[in-house]
Amino acid sequence: MLKGKTALVTGSTSGIGLAIARGLAASGANVVLNGFGDAAAIEALRTGIENDFAVKAVYFDADLTKADACTALVRSAEETFGSVDVLVNNAGVQFVAPVEEFPDDKWDLIIALNLSAAFHAIKAALPGMKARKWGRIINTGSAHALVASPFKAAYVAAKHGIAGLTKTVALETATFGITCNAICPGYVWTPLVEKQIPDTARARGMTEEQVKKDVLLAAQPTKEFVTVEEVAALAVFLASDDARSITGSLQQIDGGWVAA
Ligand code: NAD
Repeated sequence: MLKGKTALVTGSTSGIGLAIARGLAASGANVVLNGFGDAAAIEALRTGIENDFAVKAVYFDADLTKADACTALVRSAEETFGSVDVLVNNAGVQFVAPVEEFPDDKWDLIIALNLSAAFHAIKAALPGMKARKWGRIINTGSAHALVASPFKAAYVAAKHGIAGLTKTVALETATFGITCNAICPGYVWTPLVEKQIPDTARARGMTEEQVKKDVLLAAQPTKEFVTVEEVAALAVFLASDDARSITGSLQQIDGGWVAA
């Protein structure tokens, strides 16, 4: 389905991004991996994708809190494979604290990575997509692109920003064979969720088990974590030709969270 196409997935050394990279590779795309982690572990992920799906996979180390690094990542992908056809802006971090105690540097980091990096990567990738008259931009939003939760000021602000960016880019690219959508997951069991449990427990004066049951899954009517494979399947569909008329959308995959 995506044979001959190139997919760049930011933050793909872990969690949702890794599952999306593997899903796009399973559909035939060559993939560009990005994110932090142990070099040997990342190399194992890269070769795993090549061996499992008979595609090419490369990894570029880029700190996407820096605008220049976002642009350079897109350029490196284009130089390696000739194009970036599918851009998945997925890298993101979380920090949990009451707003009056929220550290300024954490605010700046989250806005830079969870919002501005998507802008810089889209800006760099669009000229090539427009010239080829085909492109798929998929932003990892969140249920927090649509609703808020306490103690997540920067994350909720960044994800609401992603919703606005997604809609604007969709309007600007609608006649170029390009779509731009956001996937908005509820709680997905990944390292990002696991890591915020101790801080949430401290902020709310709860045990970690109570946080899982009464905070995280309290918002999710299914009472189940979404899986990374389910998110990847949605991304693969959005990248397909069948999804050509879906643009500017915020795709909820949240076990009913924002319906409540
Ligand atoms: P994760 O921690 O497993 O993965 C985050 C990825 O981003 C990793 O590959 C990490 O190395 C990379 N990264 C971190 N800082 C970076 C930087 N400065 N530059 C480049 N890469 C960087 O987390 P995840 O849960 O898979 O989250 C992925 C995305 O999904 C995020 O945008 C997150 O907001 C979103 N999301 C997650 C959930 C959830 O419940 N897990 C729910 C909704 C949305």
